[in-house]
Amino acid sequence: MAGKVYLVGAGPGDPELLTLKALRVLKTADVVLHDELVGAEILSLVSPTAQVQNVGKRCGRKSSTQAEINALLVNYGLLDLQVVRLKGGDPLIFGRGGEEIEALRNANLDVEVIPGVTAALGAAAAAQIPLTHRRLSSSLIFITNHHSSAANTTDWPTSISPTATVVVYMPGYAYAATEGQLVAAGLKASTPCAIISQATRPEEKVYITTIGELRSAPRLPAPTLLIVGEVVRLAEHASLHEQFPTHSTIEAFLPLVAQSESFAQGQRNTENSERPE
Ligand code: SAH
Repeated sequence: MAGKVYLVGAGPGDPELLTLKALRVLKTADVVLHDELVGAEILSLVSPTAQVQNVGKRCGRKSSTQAEINALLVNYGLLDLQVVRLKGGDPLIFGRGGEEIEALRNANLDVEVIPGVTAALGAAAAAQIPLTHRRLSSSLIFITNHHSSAANTTDWPTSISPTATVVVYMPGYAYAATEGQLVAAGLKASTPCAIISQATRPEEKVYITTIGELRSAPRLPAPTLLIVGEVVRLAEHASLHEQFPTHSTIEAFLPLVAQSESFAQGQRNTENSERPE
């Protein structure tokens, strides 16, 4: 009998954001293949008898190719083992989970996906940014900067509504290029954005800026996520007090909130009052 392969989301970092189901399969797995993003605290929850293998990128060591990872998953699965493929965040968001499912299906292996809290949700919660808001944002775009070099604009939408929230995964540090992409998609340079570093981990930091000022943002430690949109005006985080040392965060943001209120005023005529928050 063949084993089973679980594609499991480890969440954005805080082990308490693991699901109970993820914890259960980590405790009973025979083999765990994990990405670099999965931290030591989560790996310490894995059964002590399991074989644990890092297949992610590492300083001085080449990461396994996707074909190698697919082959490992298939081979362990065919050995009648309970295999966990553990990924940061959710396994099906910018995690190549789809390619792994395809390889496992082709080998007639049983697959189960256990979702995880994706980085966008962890980062937004950390900075108390509501990704949607009845008056400020009615749609959400998840995008990755990873495949697009500075010269390649094809991965970006040609137009982004000012009432959308955009979450950029793998934003990198080529902020001037990202700024160009956002402006080319029709967003105003004054649109607020937040860089959130190491969300849900003890080292977590938030930096608030605008699209127009993005190029002078500091290079916060990876992993980072960029959230763009009017909802960013509502951010709150202890690290913002370092960014605005002469004011309390609330005072620093009062003008921004006032602007968002007047922005919201303009939206009210078109708003459906029965829409959920
Ligand atoms: N499957 C993952 C995403 C993998 S892509 C998920 O659903 O979250 C890896 C990117 O996710 C990183 O480059 C970064 O942009 C983002 N990311 C993951 N964990 C993060 C964290 N704790 N804080 C900020 N960004 C994070």
